[in-house]
Amino acid sequence: MGQTNQLLSTAVANLEAAAGRLRLKPHMLERVATPKEKIEIAINPILDDDQPVPITAFIVRHNDALGPAKGGIRMSPTVTLDDVAGMAMEMTWKTALIGVPFGGGKSGIRFDGSAVSQAAKEKIIRSFTRGARRHFGPELYIPAPDMGTNERDMGHIRDCISYSDGTSITQGCFVTGKPVMLGGIVGRREATGKGVVYSTAAACSEMGLDLKTVKVAVQGFGNVGSVTAKEIFDLGARVIAVSDIHGGIYSERGLNIDDVLDHVQRTGSLTDVPGSEFIDNEELLACSCDVLIPAATQSQITEENADRIQARIIAEGANAPTTPAGDEILRGKGILVIPDILCNAGGVFVSYLEYTQETQREQMTEEQVEERLRKRMSDRFKQVCEYARGKDCTMREAAMDLAVGRVVEAIESRGLLP
Ligand code: NAD
Repeated sequence: MGQTNQLLSTAVANLEAAAGRLRLKPHMLERVATPKEKIEIAINPILDDDQPVPITAFIVRHNDALGPAKGGIRMSPTVTLDDVAGMAMEMTWKTALIGVPFGGGKSGIRFDGSAVSQAAKEKIIRSFTRGARRHFGPELYIPAPDMGTNERDMGHIRDCISYSDGTSITQGCFVTGKPVMLGGIVGRREATGKGVVYSTAAACSEMGLDLKTVKVAVQGFGNVGSVTAKEIFDLGARVIAVSDIHGGIYSERGLNIDDVLDHVQRTGSLTDVPGSEFIDNEELLACSCDVLIPAATQSQITEENADRIQARIIAEGANAPTTPAGDEILRGKGILVIPDILCNAGGVFVSYLEYTQETQREQMTEEQVEERLRKRMSDRFKQVCEYARGKDCTMREAAMDLAVGRVVEAIESRGLLP
């Protein structure tokens, strides 16, 4: 099976396993497995060479029993409707687990945004927003950044909607992860990475490891990976390897992440960072470290390579980085895996704060955001850990059982639809 379908099949396999443990009735499993809505949108923006370019985009609203669908927009030349459906399902569990009144959704724009100018990317985002306008709304679906999109893109979405309404602002929150200047929230960009680090710190104390002495490897150096690397470096951990899609850098003594960030800022790449040697992504996953943080993309830890992993803790910054077969091997090796729906939920939690801030026309300070994020991540980590201990199961099983149980309870509380 190709990587495209792997993401959806990972999500479905994790759900089916939870349904078995929770003894869900077949009709309920069918209901929580099936997306509420799957939309394919054709857009034709005119890009750099004045030619219209046909682009396909997708939106999936997986489940809205707990609230409006929430989930980011992935812009990638390979993203498919199945990928988006798998990630939307994951969002349903993530929002339920972290305890925000949202359901799960996701968007995909099938295009390589890094291959065109900023102006062209803005046209694509605006074109997508016009095409998707009736699917966006504070009570319906609220997008945010994901791989290949960022806060600038979210600013364009917000502008596109308010412009078409003839107003300066939108009525309620249509998109999160916006620039702070436009009603975004301080700390949203860093929230996912910070949440990954809080979870990792909690896992280290579970395993009796001192964060200041652990060796860490981070795959992916985009929003999530770079913030995670920087935060954990600032806490005193030794970050020995980081990578991006082209490969990575390694230093047994530890990388100075401030210098690495400077280098990337100046050169746009992770190559030739002084004091480091080249490492490819497979070597990074298998390197001798205590904590491995996959923060790049899906299906990186599989039955092909899980056996070579030496880390004691895996903190899933990315969505679905581990396939079910890979997961089984990690379980056999006794590795503590902090599952994605818990580990990287800091982003959607702070998105929720942004949503409430916009509705109430309030402004939260950086300290308030940070304190609420830290508390929520550590409370939910504890809850998942206690459940796992009580049931003698993995953290992923515990997280899935708690999340699916909450969504099922919401569906049952709503009652039967006419
Ligand atoms: P990003 O586009 O900012 O960065 C992605 C990074 O991964 C880049 O460094 C890229 O070069 C690297 N990469 C891509 N494919 C790779 C591959 N095959 N091998 C190695 N490296 C590869 O994206 P991001 O926002 O940091 O998202 C990373 C992951 O985290 C995704 O799985 C995303 O769904 C998940 N996530 C993101 C957020 C968020 O708030 N941005 C929240 C939750 C989960």
